[in-house]
Amino acid sequence: MNDHRSAAKPSLPTFAKLAPLAAQLLQLVLLLVCVALLGSAPARATVYDAELSAQLLHGEDLCAAAPCREVMPAAQQFSKRKGSPSYVEAYAVDAGKQRLVGYVFLSTDVVDIPAYSGKPVVTLIGMDKAGIISGVRVLKHSEPILLAGIPESALLKFIHQYVGKSADAKLVIGQGQQDGGAIGLDAISGATVTAIAENQVISRSAYEIGRQVGIIKSTPRPPARFTPLRDKLSWADMLKEGSVQSLLVPAGEVDAKDPSQPYMELHFGYLNVPAVGISLLGQHGYDSLMQDLKPDEHAIFIIATGQESFKGSGFVRGGIYDRVQVRQDPVTFTFRDTDYLNLYHLQPADAPAFKESAIFIVRSADFNPAWPWQLTVLANKSDKENGIKTFVHFDQELWLPARYLEGGRPHVERPQAAWKAIWANQKVEIALFGLILAFAAFMYSRRDWLVRRSSRKHKPWIAVPRHLLWIASVGFLGFYLKAQPSITQVMTWFHSILHQWKWELFLSDPFIFVFWWFIIISVALWGRGVFCGWLCPFGSLQQLALSLGKRIGLKRFQSLLPKRLHDKLKWIKYAVFFVLLGVSFFSMETAEHLAEIEPFKTTFLVGVWNRTWPFWLFIGAILGWSFLSERPYCKYICPLGAGLAIPSKLRLFGLKRKQECTTCHACASGCGSHAIDAAGKIDQTECMQCLDCMILYYDDHACPPLVKERKAREKSGQPLTAINGAGYFISLDSVRQTLSDKAAEQRTRS
Ligand code: SF4
Ligand code: SF4
Repeated sequence: MNDHRSAAKPSLPTFAKLAPLAAQLLQLVLLLVCVALLGSAPARATVYDAELSAQLLHGEDLCAAAPCREVMPAAQQFSKRKGSPSYVEAYAVDAGKQRLVGYVFLSTDVVDIPAYSGKPVVTLIGMDKAGIISGVRVLKHSEPILLAGIPESALLKFIHQYVGKSADAKLVIGQGQQDGGAIGLDAISGATVTAIAENQVISRSAYEIGRQVGIIKSTPRPPARFTPLRDKLSWADMLKEGSVQSLLVPAGEVDAKDPSQPYMELHFGYLNVPAVGISLLGQHGYDSLMQDLKPDEHAIFIIATGQESFKGSGFVRGGIYDRVQVRQDPVTFTFRDTDYLNLYHLQPADAPAFKESAIFIVRSADFNPAWPWQLTVLANKSDKENGIKTFVHFDQELWLPARYLEGGRPHVERPQAAWKAIWANQKVEIALFGLILAFAAFMYSRRDWLVRRSSRKHKPWIAVPRHLLWIASVGFLGFYLKAQPSITQVMTWFHSILHQWKWELFLSDPFIFVFWWFIIISVALWGRGVFCGWLCPFGSLQQLALSLGKRIGLKRFQSLLPKRLHDKLKWIKYAVFFVLLGVSFFSMETAEHLAEIEPFKTTFLVGVWNRTWPFWLFIGAILGWSFLSERPYCKYICPLGAGLAIPSKLRLFGLKRKQECTTCHACASGCGSHAIDAAGKIDQTECMQCLDCMILYYDDHACPPLVKERKAREKSGQPLTAINGAGYFISLDSVRQTLSDKAAEQRTRS
């Protein structure tokens, strides 16, 4: 089980003669990388970040710009956009007469659900008069994972599953969750998060339009009855109990003129409840408002500060206030000027100052204040990459406190978050995954104990657990769970932070989520080596190739590049990392293509046999090289390794060194990562925490200062004492001192 270094002499051969050959081999590998990248070009997606016209996104005539017939083949003509949220009617033409056959709608008109990239998948959906989905077409997505590797056809196959399903069906991702009448859909392998987001987009859009056109009937809710409470509340009381809510629209998340000021900061509440209405408007104000309201009319107040007006600067008489809406799933309520009342003053002394205010009237029997509802603010946001404007929603829920409702709050069954279902579905795998990570962390935290029981020539306490972890990592983490962390995730996070961060989306891939927390914590504590050296699936694959190479008789060919050459080549991976990160700010698409320099997707996600020959060559070259040298990909190419190496410099706990390390190079020449420099210092950015140098540190038959001391003591007949934490034999003087102290103590006691 020992790796190729363990049986070598303390000093590895320099292999100077092999250097030109090795360098040529490296050049060949890098050449293959380029070929592989070129070869990947034809796999480009066709709707990735497609430019969609303003007519399609917001124009009157959706179907003049969108392929509506593809999602509603039975129709020949389409109406203009109508309704709120908008949809178009689809007509067949029989003998010159129009016959309604269904509806077509654009997902972004209805819902605002970002996918993994932080941007929505723009989807065109057709639904017949019976509420059956007749077609789905993705018009634009920004999902990096579908750019290369996972073919766009996988997305097309995924959305095809919706054709023939009812708009009110409970559709869930994963075939194992069909309880409660749910219909399971196959996820997109390797792009679960995208599938979950797209499922919400299609299901919610179809449901909302089905509800609006009367296909889907919602169960009637008993009308709300308010308790007669009339206590006078301060602003702080109302904020605390939740009858007044706040909604902040940060400048950074929309097109704001001044990035340092909030775009809008709103407070809102429901005025029909006596205690709230009287506290805010005073008795007189409340009474006169209530007198004006008819049954099924509801008054909502909004006050706001910030750089923009919630009423909108382009508001015209008779028009709709297009920046604020009230939603009570699945219905959206908008306001016209006839629904607007002036609000000049709020009664509570501690009410905040405001720049603008309004009372809006919801006039609908569909609104029920006993159930939760949301105030939604819509704002423009331009895509940083292509300048195209989209709408973003900011929502805040208000649910009246139970004390204002006769009988308390009704029972509301909220849909289980998709990520919760995924976690629940994979409990066993997650537990096993967690155990593997915990085992690695535990073993590493006990490294002193492990290395003290090992010697340079015999180290099963370290070699066996590491090999077990490598096998588990390749087989279970890599091939089975497809949990290979990647630089693409880092780039996606950067972009999500810039666009819209949603925890639910990252929680939707439990293994990657947990793995990254493990990586963050372990890098902060010990540096990158616990992940890279013990757990990374591709790193483990290289390490197993090295061990296998030794087993099959390649040991005599196994070598490292000369340290001087290594010290130059190791910078390549940092260059790759910064180029990828830099490019991603200009074009995520190009960055994703360049990220194919990581062989992870081909190896674990997509499978070598689903790729083209440049990818086979690339992986073949890396693994072939790994049979002859330790982790060449990690050392010279891996951008993720480089990205983790940088924070590793700040790790809390480094490996031990002793004074003599500065001149003695025994560990340095045995380090398979070339991580110990001429001054005996460990370079934490390169160290894979194999612990070989730590074994030597305590080995009195290998560590030169210890060997010297041992021999001297043996020669002079002095006993060999234990080795202390600093890596030296405990001095005889201090042993004698301890013994005499103990004897004195005993004498005093007796
Ligand atoms: S350097 Fe890259 S491939 Fe190697 S172990 Fe680290 S992350 Fe994995
Ligand atoms: S410096 Fe790191 S990689 Fe090198 S021998 Fe020590 S523990 Fe292993």
